[in-house]
This record gives sequence, C-alpha cells and structure tokens, in this order.
Amino acid sequence: DSVHIREDLLRMTELMDGFKASKALFTASKMRVFDVLHSRPGLDATQVAHEIKASVKGTECLLEACVSLGLLESKERKYQKPMYENSDLARRFLRSDAPLSLQGYIQHCNELVWPLFSHLESAVREGTNQYEKAFGRKSDDLFQDAYYSRHEVKLRFMKAMHSMAKITGKAVATAFDLSSFKTACDLGGCTGAMAYEFTKAHPGLSVTVFDLPGVVDMCGHFRPRDADNRVSFVTGDFFKDELPKADLYILARILHDWPDEKVHTLLSKISDACTPGCGLLVSEIFLDEDRRGPCRGLLQALSMSQGGAVLVAEIMLDGRTPYAALQSLNMLAQTEGMERTESQYTNLLSKHGFGHVRVVHTMNFLDALIAIKI
Ligand code: SAM
Repeated sequence: DSVHIREDLLRMTELMDGFKASKALFTASKMRVFDVLHSRPGLDATQVAHEIKASVKGTECLLEACVSLGLLESKERKYQKPMYENSDLARRFLRSDAPLSLQGYIQHCNELVWPLFSHLESAVREGTNQYEKAFGRKSDDLFQDAYYSRHEVKLRFMKAMHSMAKITGKAVATAFDLSSFKTACDLGGCTGAMAYEFTKAHPGLSVTVFDLPGVVDMCGHFRPRDADNRVSFVTGDFFKDELPKADLYILARILHDWPDEKVHTLLSKISDACTPGCGLLVSEIFLDEDRRGPCRGLLQALSMSQGGAVLVAEIMLDGRTPYAALQSLNMLAQTEGMERTESQYTNLLSKHGFGHVRVVHTMNFLDALIAIKI
C-alpha cells in the first residue's frame, strides 16, 4: 500500500509541477541555452551565464532544472563546475536551426498560450477565449485582432505554425493515396510548409495555398531553399471570398479554431466549390470518442524515440495521454473553437455531402481524415 501511496504522490507532484517544467523549457529556449550549447558544447554554468547575459546563480538553477527534465546532460568534474551539453531531445527539437525545431512553437506557447492559461478559470466560467484579460484587447476576429494585430506577433504565430507543420506535414501528406487528385487547395495554409510536403510526396499534385493577405505577404520568409514551383499562393478570406478551384481541399488545424456555425459556413463554401469525387482532407487531433485521449499516434511515435518515451511515461495515466483533452482546453482559452472526435467531424462533413470517410492516426501530432464529395 505504501508503494501505491508513493506512486500516487509522485503522480500528484508531476501534475502540480507540470507548469514549472513547461516554463523552464520555455525560458531556456527563449534565452537560447540550447543554441549556445549546440555551438559550444561543454560550457560550465558561468560560461553559459556570460553567453546568455544572465546571473550565474539563476543560470545554474535553470541548467540543473533542464538536466533533471532530460533536456541537457551534465558532466561532473573533480574540483571544477559541471559542464553541460544538449541531450538528444534538445539536439533534435530545441536548437533553432534543427530541421524539426519546435522553437517557434515553444515561443508561441511562452508568449501567447501561457498568459491565456493564467486566465483559465475565467475561460471555464465564461466559455470563451481570454485575449481581453490577458492582453487588454478585445478580439472580435481571432486572426485579425489577436494573432495578426502587430507585425512581430504575426511573425511569431507564423513561425509557430511553420514549425508544427514541418514536423507533421509529411505524416499528413502521406496518410492517403492521393494519386487521383491533380490539384489541391490548402485553405488557411499559412507559410506553405504543409503544401511543400504534399508536393514532395505527390509528384503529380499542385497545391494552392489560400490564406489572408497579411499572411501570404510574408510567406517569402518561409520559402524552402529548394521550393517546388507546384506550390502557389492566393490571398483571400475563406468565409467571404470565392475559393480557388481544386480536386482536393485541405483543412489542417482550421476547423478546431471555429464553433460549429462557422465550420458550417466554411464547409458549405467548400462543398459548393466541389464536384462529385472531389476530396476533403481534414487534419486535426481527434479526441477519442470517450473524450479523454489517447492520441495513439503521438504515443507510438514518441515511444519510438528514447527521450520521448521518458516524457510520455511521465504524462501517461493508465495508458492514456491527456494530450488531446489538454489541446481542447487550449482551444477554449485561445480560440472560438474546440477539438472534436472523429464522429463529430464525420457528422459535420456529412451535412455538406461528404462521405466515404477514412481516418488515419499518423503517429505524429496530427491525425488525418479524408472524405469524398458524393
Ligand atoms: N494550416 C496551417 C497548419 O496546419 O499549420 C495553419 C493553421 S493556423 C491554426 C490557421 C490558419 O488559418 C492561419 O494561417 C490563418 O491565417 C488562416 N485563416 C484564419 N482565418 C482565415 C480566413 N478567414 N481566411 C483565410 N485564412 C484564414
């Protein structure tokens, strides 16, 4: 019994300390600890403090916290301070120039999601996002008033979307055989990161990225060096403007931003633009039907990497991960929408003439669903 109590207390400590772990990660990332230790592995705390222009006492504390979280490794030395270097997890995901860098997304979590979550109680009471309380500004239009209010905020949001899309893009693009489609339109395709993964995976496919003018204006910042000319960009508002014609429409992390009424407006526009046989690919995190997780794909993917297995083991509860349910809480605090189950998406789509639904759990952060216009 004392073993159970100990396990339960450990679990409670993990839950109560989760926010400290997140903030330690965000802070080390913002202060460029992982970049510094990538270019100069083996520095001690005094040297890192000098590089990041911070106190030695504070830097020592932060570095040791990162070691305990598996983000850094330390090498003890006799009569000298320990030396630090990045762990495999940090090398893969935390340095800013890593191909799968999560830095953009982490900064978004630190600067935008963290302040919103400090008003979670109000979000729960009111059932709405918390921009006004967190940032002193009312947001009638989520994107125009909140994400894109200032240039640097917009760029930070785009970097966050870009880093996630680069990690998930290949898994989403290869989830289904798309060889029968020649043209695709990625609605809300942001920087084009997902579109480039689609053209890479499907040599016969051209993709039009459709997004708001302020976003498309900046897509040059994110253009890959070997950019495929089968990707093009068109500006517009998907609630108001005519949609580009395509055989396949892609909605990646779009529907979860909006309540059912706006989802219906958008789906009805897509349906009008489709002829029978056209496809609609929706990529989101799907809540389990019992609405508690797990996100199977993510679980398996992370379990495959050693560092990830440790992280997952920490957040698993009876073999379930709260990832999807926490993302839904995130959507409450941040957007007008929510995460939904596969059957909720299938229902929404069926009201607009889409059927033959197939779902793939991609082993990554996002799952994928394809439906065909009947
Ligand atoms: N699809 C991308 C991905 O998966 O990384 C980006 C997803 S992001 C959550 C939502 C995107 O929808 C943003 O790029 C945003 O600019 C775009 N968006 C929001 N409202 C829009 C509108 N009314 N018309 C066109 N695009 C819009």
